[in-house]
Amino acid sequence: MLAGTLRLPVVLECDRCLESFVHTLNEEFAVVFELAKEEAAGLASDHFCKGDELDVVYLAEPVVDVFSVLAQQVFLGLPEKRLCSDKCLGLCPECGANLNSHPCGCARSTGASPFNVLAKLKAQ
Ligand SMILES: [Zn+2]
Ligand SMILES: [Zn+2]
Repeated sequence: MLAGTLRLPVVLECDRCLESFVHTLNEEFAVVFELAKEEAAGLASDHFCKGDELDVVYLAEPVVDVFSVLAQQVFLGLPEKRLCSDKCLGLCPECGANLNSHPCGCARSTGASPFNVLAKLKAQ
């Protein structure tokens, strides 16, 4: 069994403004290794679907590729929403400018948002 805490910075791309930013992962993990026996292959796949707390990795041979296991844990630990900041302003829908660094000159009237357009359509 391999257990521990992953604490490392990863560079992600912000969902809103597409800028790269550093996110520090802090992920506890525990992985159990089991040697897959051919006759137990059917059982093994059953086990795998039960969604236990522990990740079980079935090995074809008694060799653990620690790097790929860690890489998988990093992948699993990545946030679904990737924002450089909660207050990220994102990109201007008109000109594509990054509104965090330089507010653009586009007139952004709130009336033009698709939600308001929908609301108007419903009201009719
Ligand atoms: Zn951002
Ligand atoms: Zn703009």
